[in-house]
Amino acid sequence: MTYPTYERERILNPTEEDIREVIKEAYYNGKDKTHLGNLAHYIPELTKRDPDAFGICRMDREGKLIEFGETETRFSMQSVSKVVNLALALKYKGAKEVFNHVGMEPSGDAFNSIIKLEAKSDLPYNPMINVGAIQVCSLLANEFEFEEVLDFAKILCKDDGITLNEDVYESEQGTGDRNRAMAYLLKSKGVLQADPEKTLELYFKMCSINVNARSLAGLGLIISNNGEDPITGKHYLHPEYVRILKSIMFTCGLYDASGEFGVKIGMPAKSGVGGGVVCATKGPAGIGIYGPALDQYGNSIAGVAALEHISYRLHLHVFDFV
Ligand code: GLU
Repeated sequence: MTYPTYERERILNPTEEDIREVIKEAYYNGKDKTHLGNLAHYIPELTKRDPDAFGICRMDREGKLIEFGETETRFSMQSVSKVVNLALALKYKGAKEVFNHVGMEPSGDAFNSIIKLEAKSDLPYNPMINVGAIQVCSLLANEFEFEEVLDFAKILCKDDGITLNEDVYESEQGTGDRNRAMAYLLKSKGVLQADPEKTLELYFKMCSINVNARSLAGLGLIISNNGEDPITGKHYLHPEYVRILKSIMFTCGLYDASGEFGVKIGMPAKSGVGGGVVCATKGPAGIGIYGPALDQYGNSIAGVAALEHISYRLHLHVFDFV
């Protein structure tokens, strides 16, 4: 069954049943697209996934889930972990300090590009590209053990089951020379804030933690709710920092398709080459996605299609003011 995106009405005040129906439509929309994408191949361990897999989960402020497909399948968080790293850096260093060391501009280049660092600026453009995330990890690496950052990820994702995937970690290390080059380039410029190997260990490990679509829905919910877990009432992040996170996700979260995603879908989100996408929506609510078949930019092809449908039908674009 397929539900073409623009042939259905927008729903301005959806009931819970409406939302369930729209997420279901989005699931089938996405599932229909999986065959058009490809698995990431440059990290060998990522080629072992089922390219047709797809799961979507929405978590609301009461913790209620609406989910379809593979929402419990574990997969590596990859670049979605850049959100956790940035959140922790903002929490413990403050925004001023963080942005003394990394920019907040979209780069318009591929996630693993190094070109602007040489040609334009000694500081990485933003914390969502590899070189920027490596820089953020250097702000953390002297003060936090990996296990502590992992614990923070568990809290933000509302998921105690997150663990390090040793096979992916090994695969990352085996193929991570470009990331190593970035860390050493930052060191050579005198801007890296910790030892490059220690920094890279944290960066690679955070890319290799095993989440699922539910974990990402939990992360989206806490971001959407300004850093407070609405279910427990606990505050984990200052709202100011969450606004920064959402802004950076909005402008830089979907690789070099961030502009198009912002125009068409208009919600803060972050994708990873493992097929994960976290999205924070009005509501507040979080949406988590697993769809390892990627489009040409490295975004989950099914995930982007599903989010486009949800944004349109439920009127969730951040610039839908009325
Ligand atoms: N571990 C991957 C890398 O560093 C992350 C890429 C991604 O998800 O964007 O290349």
